[in-house]
Amino acid sequence: MGSDVILSLRNICSAIPKGITVPRHIVCLTFDFDTMSGFIARGLTTPTPLSRGEFGARASSRILAFLQSRGIASTWFTPGFTIETFPRECEAVLKAGHEIAHHSWAHVPPADQDREAEEADMERANDAIARLTGRKARGYRSPSWDLSPHTIDLLVKQGFLYDSSLMGADYWPYRARRGDVAERGQPYGFGEETSLIEMPISWSLDDFPHFEFLRTPQTVLPGLQPARTVMANWLDEFRYMKKSVDWGILTYTMHPYVIGRGYRMLALEELVDTLAREGAVFMTMEDAAGQAQARMWG
Ligand SMILES: [Zn+2]
Repeated sequence: MGSDVILSLRNICSAIPKGITVPRHIVCLTFDFDTMSGFIARGLTTPTPLSRGEFGARASSRILAFLQSRGIASTWFTPGFTIETFPRECEAVLKAGHEIAHHSWAHVPPADQDREAEEADMERANDAIARLTGRKARGYRSPSWDLSPHTIDLLVKQGFLYDSSLMGADYWPYRARRGDVAERGQPYGFGEETSLIEMPISWSLDDFPHFEFLRTPQTVLPGLQPARTVMANWLDEFRYMKKSVDWGILTYTMHPYVIGRGYRMLALEELVDTLAREGAVFMTMEDAAGQAQARMWG
């Protein structure tokens, strides 16, 4: 940036009256580094489904190269399974300056576990993260985005800063609650807010349902949508955030074995470059949660 540009930016900033917020539109690129763990958790353990997950480990290097080329720091929700199965690939994510966040050990949805099993898996995964990074995770995202009634409690107990598994907002983080009561025929009972910051997500901003063809004995997920159509929707979500709020955070969720296919990478690269031109500020989810904390509750 030339010095004249810096000077003119300074002039603009000093001309803004106190109390007026400078627009800031944050984008978190997040990657759920599942590799084979999700297939194994679903019982899909024949060679071809497993190889789909294996592709994620290979594709991680091209995603890292792209992020590096744009100077973007991102967040990788990494199961303990992936850390212990692909230590070299996980080291590369860490070395490139990205956040390693918690995504369970075995990719079993908490909603399918009792409290004891969920807590044991959560601790095992955090130990794997601490061995890799030197510290425990600050952020958590549940496998398959299905929390148990105990998850928020356990995350607070284990000292997490944020969760990224709920869909109760779009551009503004909020405090995760515990003890909500939902009963048929009764008004909704809101539980108490906790210290945990919820960084909201949405299936519409997740690559998996748009792109992945998945056949199980119970369902068929068709997927295989044109990549640029999906990215056009994702861009419009950013544009609506800019139009509707002066400050906000938008989170995209991707999986290396899904987004890492060539034609999708091209579409992602175009999206990221357009977002950058339109003023997006990219950062890790931990940093974004920190900014939300300071701005909303500081
Ligand atoms: Zn996952």
